[in-house]
Amino acid sequence: MPESDNLLACFAAREIDSRGRLYQESKPKYRGEFQRDRDRIIHSSAFRRLVYKTQVFVNHEGDLYRTRLTHSIEVSQIARTLAQSLKLNEVLIEAMALAHDLGHTPFGHAGQDTLNKCMQDFGGFEHNLQSLRVVDQLESKYAEFDGLNLTFETREGILKHCSLKNAQNLGDIGKRFIERQQPGLEAQLVNIADAIAYNHHDIDDGYRAGLITLDQLMQVGLFRQPFSRVKEKFPKINERRLIHETLRQMISNVVNDLITNTNFVLKRVKPKSIEDIRLQKFKIAKFSENINFEHLELKKFLNSNLYKHPRVVEMTDQAETMVKKLFERYMSDYSVLPENIQNILQGETDKNRARKISDYIAGMTDRFAIAEYERLI
Ligand code: MG
Repeated sequence: MPESDNLLACFAAREIDSRGRLYQESKPKYRGEFQRDRDRIIHSSAFRRLVYKTQVFVNHEGDLYRTRLTHSIEVSQIARTLAQSLKLNEVLIEAMALAHDLGHTPFGHAGQDTLNKCMQDFGGFEHNLQSLRVVDQLESKYAEFDGLNLTFETREGILKHCSLKNAQNLGDIGKRFIERQQPGLEAQLVNIADAIAYNHHDIDDGYRAGLITLDQLMQVGLFRQPFSRVKEKFPKINERRLIHETLRQMISNVVNDLITNTNFVLKRVKPKSIEDIRLQKFKIAKFSENINFEHLELKKFLNSNLYKHPRVVEMTDQAETMVKKLFERYMSDYSVLPENIQNILQGETDKNRARKISDYIAGMTDRFAIAEYERLI
């Protein structure tokens, strides 16, 4: 057990209480179990591919936009601050944050929605479940097992949502969705850290791309208040700095609120262990009502002004076409796939073949998917 576990709150995830790995392994010598999880995630090929995958903007649009990799690092930075402040397991939350988007398709949400449609007759596609599939099965580098053989706790944090139907096939890790229980606090917080990170960096990227204007941003309460304060204090700074300073304070405000409010709920509930957290009917990690309202307002704002912006829609339409055509092409003629994939597909049922083709497409980077589309269609 790492010495730092002694400094954790009684309800934090500790190695000593871990539900363990699917395949038993000997203990690591110089690091903890959750550290080993984090290190395996960083060394995975799915993690390296995040650098060429995007959420809103397609990868070749410009070098300054967030990619899934920089997004995951930003989530981990916010999540670690949350864990430190609440005496939770910082290494575990870092592992969860770095792995949370491993199952994402190329071209962000457009890619996964399209893949889900393509997979309708074969069990559908869920990006969250796909992240778990990557760490449980698809990484294939270790001699003794498929996947990365991560601890239950890291996997619990990766599987944020899951349909009841899928949960039934997942054993232990799917149980909480059936029994309507909560995950540990680290998992609850990493989920919110994800939302904080993308809401804020999408404003930054959207503004830089000229898709949202300052006038529009002033409709958003979370933005307007720190903006006015910064402008009053630094009347002469240029707009770029003004926006960055505002965003910085916005993140601080929501993070501080989340820590204060979660502490408040913890004092009321008084959990004695991570199991107490899991058994609650509601999530303990949450914003105050006020900030929750404003955070939702920001989400709605981005939905109507950025994600539905004609330029973004044009891009997502193209992405949908590419993913759909690739799926159809591979399904109708898998001889166009690399030999190792052809071997895996040989003799499989339609359903299994579709699943493996969807794994192959989900694993693609934006630029690889574009190159494949140009090659084949
Ligand atoms: Mg994310």
